[in-house]
Amino acid sequence: MVARVVLPAALALLAAGFLWSEAVARKVAPREVAYSELVKAVEGGRVSSVEVRELDLLARLKQPPADGTEGLLAKRLPALEDPALLAKLEAGGVTISGKAEPGSPVLSAMASFAPFLLLPLALWLFSSWASRRGGGRSLAFGKREARVYDKSRDIAVTFSDVAGVDEARAELTEVVSFLKEPEKYRAVGARVPKGVLLVGPPGTGKTLLARAVAGETGVPFFSISGSEFVEMFVGVGASRVRDLFVQARERAPCIIFIDELDAIGKARSGASGFVANEEREQTLNQLLVEMDGFESGVGIVVMAATNRPEILDKALLRGGRFDRQVVVDRPDVRGRRAILAVHARKVKLTPNVDLEVVAQRTPGMVGSDLANLVNEAALASVRRAAAAIAPADFDEAVDRLQLGLKKEGRIMTADEKRRVAFHEAGHALVALSVAHADPVHRVTIIPRSTGALGATLQLPTEERYLMTRSELTDRICVLLGGRTAEALACDETSTGAEDDLARASELARMMVTRFGMSDALGAQRYGRPQALRFLTGEAAEERDYGEATARVIDTEVRALIGAQLARAQAILKDRSAALQAIGSALLTKETLRRPELEALAGIS
Ligand code: ADP
Ligand code: MG
Ligand code: ZN
Repeated sequence: MVARVVLPAALALLAAGFLWSEAVARKVAPREVAYSELVKAVEGGRVSSVEVRELDLLARLKQPPADGTEGLLAKRLPALEDPALLAKLEAGGVTISGKAEPGSPVLSAMASFAPFLLLPLALWLFSSWASRRGGGRSLAFGKREARVYDKSRDIAVTFSDVAGVDEARAELTEVVSFLKEPEKYRAVGARVPKGVLLVGPPGTGKTLLARAVAGETGVPFFSISGSEFVEMFVGVGASRVRDLFVQARERAPCIIFIDELDAIGKARSGASGFVANEEREQTLNQLLVEMDGFESGVGIVVMAATNRPEILDKALLRGGRFDRQVVVDRPDVRGRRAILAVHARKVKLTPNVDLEVVAQRTPGMVGSDLANLVNEAALASVRRAAAAIAPADFDEAVDRLQLGLKKEGRIMTADEKRRVAFHEAGHALVALSVAHADPVHRVTIIPRSTGALGATLQLPTEERYLMTRSELTDRICVLLGGRTAEALACDETSTGAEDDLARASELARMMVTRFGMSDALGAQRYGRPQALRFLTGEAAEERDYGEATARVIDTEVRALIGAQLARAQAILKDRSAALQAIGSALLTKETLRRPELEALAGIS
């Protein structure tokens, strides 16, 4: 900000300095004459003024000489002072002045460089003026970027402006309540999370949510974006982080928000010597130090947002740092309706606009798309010179936006949607039917942040320490359920099951070679896992068995998979009515929760 004003000002000053020194140089130095000649000029009445200096006399002439010289310069004769001169000067009406310094070349050079010497002073004056105007910003690097948002001025955002992300909102209400009433938490000695990481695809409202938390609590909001750190000099990023936390400590309770955390939080590279990396790593290290440096009770909550959690340095996610993660996912049809309603508050609609219909036409769109959509519809109505937005304006806007989304590959065709719906229905129905599967929490055909087309969320999601043979086979069966359902409902399979197949094969191979769960091979481990390969980082395995054993392993894995595939097929054929019901419900509602699923599957 400030720098943008200072630079032109500095350039202008520099230019002025050059012009001045040019002018000084053009005024040719006075002509040196003998003392007697100067006296003669005085006597001849040609001199208008005389400057008496320490070592010489400078006489300026009434008629400026044609050669452009400043006048006559004569050495004074200290050994032979001339008291008569004064009388002659007075008689001739010559102006007399004195000067203490010698007219030395050094000084005159300094005089011509004066503007350059003044430059730092001018800059300093300017910057302190700017900092007074800019509300505490100064030219000091690193200090100015942590902007303070006061609720009263900038943040008019509350939870009512964020819709369709109810789970994320619910998780953040605890943060709000902590910032509002920290005593309540302190009284029972409860530790609240220091760091909350918002994770989700772009445009889902992560930044908006963070600002809403600030808006709800009314505490100061320090915000900085990771991308601001990218092109900085070494050391600046780290000092900026330090200043950010210093400022925040002074104003606690408050929120520090680091947007686009991945720009600084990328996993550290180890040996790379690029300056840019070094800068980022210093910044990241400073952030880690700062986050460890305050107790969770002081009333600072650090929030951060990223749409690439997988590339974050693991150290950021450790306890005492960003130990709470809040997923902000793409909204389903209900969520989209709610988001449309938020943005429709600001525009005028004709009474026959049904936002439900708009929501149904916009699968795959996120909050920012929907905000954009409402605006496009408003523009369309203005183009027709209408007073309010009609359903046709929404149609036009949807078509317009979907063109862009199709290019990005973010929306599905009707056929793809149906395929994904039955694929997920297959996973869910098998999971509900086998004895040992983790309970299904939610099924959705909205593309998730991970890039999968749909998802069947089973709880618990984290790896378990011990799993029995039947739990493992059930898991393989569930994985194969998606592909099987596709084959049943859509007559053929698609590429969408690749990840399922990879995971099922991996599980089956582990059962055979590592868990000793194959009768043909017995309780033995085959293959010795090696340390990660040095450069590629991929896991390698050292083979410690012969060709014949390898063939048996392959047969056993294939048999395991084949058995589970047959089992999944049997389950889904047996319950094809339930599969139809769940698949169709997913097509319209996009997300099904556990109770709805159980009702459709005839379980309760
Ligand atoms: P992100 O930070 O996740 O990329 P933003 O918070 O910057 O997304 O969202 C950009 C804009 O899109 C917001 O300012 C808001 O107008 C709109 N928006 C996004 N998500 C939502 C939502 N859940 N509810 C309402 N508006 C939203
Ligand atoms: Mg954002
Ligand atoms: Zn699947």
